[in-house]
Amino acid sequence: MTDRVVTALQALVRIPTVSDRDASRIDTDAFDRLLAELATQFPLLHERLELTRVGTHGLLFHWAGASAEKPVVLMAHLDVVPVDGEAPWQHDPFGGEIHDGAIWGRGTLDDKGCVAAICEAVESLLEAGQTPAQDVWLSFGCDEEVSGTAAPEAVAVLRDRGVTPWLVLDEGGAIAGGAFPGVKAPLGVIGVTEKGTTSLELVAEGRGGHASTPARNGPTARIARAILRVEKSPFPASAPAPTLELMRRLAPHLPLPVRPLLGRADQLAPVITRVLLAAGPEAAAMTRTTVAATTLSGSPALNVIASTAKAGLNIRVMVGDTVAGVVDHIRKAVADESIRIDVVESGEPSPVSPMDEPFQLVEACIGEVFPEAIATPYVMMAATDSRHFTAISEHVYRFAPFRMTKAQRQAIHSYDEHIGVADLVDGARWYQLLIERLPHD
Ligand SMILES: [Zn+2]
Repeated sequence: MTDRVVTALQALVRIPTVSDRDASRIDTDAFDRLLAELATQFPLLHERLELTRVGTHGLLFHWAGASAEKPVVLMAHLDVVPVDGEAPWQHDPFGGEIHDGAIWGRGTLDDKGCVAAICEAVESLLEAGQTPAQDVWLSFGCDEEVSGTAAPEAVAVLRDRGVTPWLVLDEGGAIAGGAFPGVKAPLGVIGVTEKGTTSLELVAEGRGGHASTPARNGPTARIARAILRVEKSPFPASAPAPTLELMRRLAPHLPLPVRPLLGRADQLAPVITRVLLAAGPEAAAMTRTTVAATTLSGSPALNVIASTAKAGLNIRVMVGDTVAGVVDHIRKAVADESIRIDVVESGEPSPVSPMDEPFQLVEACIGEVFPEAIATPYVMMAATDSRHFTAISEHVYRFAPFRMTKAQRQAIHSYDEHIGVADLVDGARWYQLLIERLPHD
């Protein structure tokens, strides 16, 4: 088992399936080769499971279980983000080389490691002649990194077939070491919701004209003022339920003086919110909707006054807030009727999945394979394909069963991405256990 999952991941990493919003720039041949490689590495899976293609290269496999009452969807994605040629990778990002007990390369953690581990689990069970207690679906998207259509198409197929997943599991959390100051144990963080991604554009218009005769309050000045006003009006902060639950579960592992405090996290929400706000941008983002002014544009020439000035705002909408509420907040903060607010991209936060039976199964499997970890729900800051599945399932969780150090987590979408060989093998074991533990009717 060890050899196959390692060899498989190495082979997948060597095929640069880089996604791009511009379809003409995608190497479709690489995606074709990746699908062929997957079929070579996991022949039984491809022989026995029913396959539906979604999007250009997305795969939706159906493994019929003893029952179809509580179907499960295991998700991962086949595409990766590009590699910055200037970044100081220690090893070839598309080499899939093994150094110091780890497999190196783009996609080892995000997210080909999950693809390989899921396939390994299924292949092993098939070899052992096992049938899962419940239907198992594998949904592998091909355009997650560019918010493509494969995942929504997979959801449409499942909906057409009347499938209401009992559990959906996608990337997101991990067995995260060094995640919380003062806590030695790694956290097994399971994303129970994710923030929504929304982009707005502030637009100011004016007469423009020659730069030698400027008028006061032109479009650029108004846009600058608007950005500053937005920055001075942060969204109200309030730690949501999953964040409070995380604090409650951490409490017994913290130094004595703070223990009783955090044990009553739910009663002390305002205190905890203040602590998180003070603990830096990452912790603060766990408590509220955030806004970043990103793109800016004005006049195309140094001696021309802009007739239109624009600022892009990238907003991560916290569970509990809505896109409409966000637009309202920004409009009030800007307090300038002459500025138009265009919604470029609208994404609501995902509903919070409950901590009932399906969650407890994930938790129990973490306890078995990673007994040292503290399993806990949390709010994910980034977006995953699984958000589309909230349309057909109440139970959507984001967790990859891999140990990741802080340095490894920072390498995702950056350089020196790598996964421990033993961690990959344990991840495959975790998925296998999850399938074995699916409830009987
Ligand atoms: Zn990913």
